[in-house]
Amino acid sequence: MPVNDDTDPLRNVAGDDTTRDTASDDAPRDTASDSAGEQLPVNELFYSLQGEGKLAGVPSVFVRTSGCNLRCWFCDSYHTSWEPTHAQLSVDEIIASVADHDADHVVVTGGEPMIHDGIVTLLERLADRGYHTTVETNGTIYRDAPIDLASVSPKLASSTPTADRDPKGDGEWAERHENDRIDVDALAQLADAYESQLKFVVTGGDDLPEIERIVDRIRAAANDPIPDGDVLLMPEGTTRTELDETRQRVAELAAEHGYRYTPRVHVDVWNDAPGT
Ligand code: SF4
Repeated sequence: MPVNDDTDPLRNVAGDDTTRDTASDDAPRDTASDSAGEQLPVNELFYSLQGEGKLAGVPSVFVRTSGCNLRCWFCDSYHTSWEPTHAQLSVDEIIASVADHDADHVVVTGGEPMIHDGIVTLLERLADRGYHTTVETNGTIYRDAPIDLASVSPKLASSTPTADRDPKGDGEWAERHENDRIDVDALAQLADAYESQLKFVVTGGDDLPEIERIVDRIRAAANDPIPDGDVLLMPEGTTRTELDETRQRVAELAAEHGYRYTPRVHVDVWNDAPGT
């Protein structure tokens, strides 16, 4: 059962048209609110189980920021990337809403949370209160912040929104996405600075050569070793039906290459219900 409170005004704020911001939200910004370090665009805030990665199954509060510097065609948080919607919430409001839930893990996700200057303030405030923090990031931006687990998801060539895959149909973002999707220096910095996991969304066996090339490049650039157990393969799919087609193949690829398989617990349990 999704564990959300629909009466919570901070829950699913994306559905409130009055909060919609039509700004592009597609690149690192330094707005007055962000530079003050006190406000963040929050698409939704909810309590559920972490669905992916090393902490799959752990009860967590999710703070989903809005805005992303990439445009994966399969993005499962469309309203933080392709059509970003959000309310600007103060860090105090976010902290108060997190505290409403009985969890000691907080997952800061997006969108791409690292594009916002204010994310550092939020993470510092969460750390001060003793929360374990996971930051889910595409790995294109490094920030120095108290992060307990950097869940880094480098985007493969198969994520690029070519005209035939672009949900808006014109391929307008393809070149920019392709140019920006891998930043080896940022990926290596994240791997060195934090306990981390490299989580790849896999559509099939054709993705593995590229994954191995990216892992090799990060290993060459990083100071610390990156064990195979920190490299996670996750099946592409945001519905049970889609996962049924990719799950077994991706699990077999993980076993074959010595990487770790991660399920998508929230999809297995709640399918594509919002706020899970
Ligand atoms: S990086 Fe993440 S949030 Fe951004 S478009 Fe890709 S899947 Fe969506």
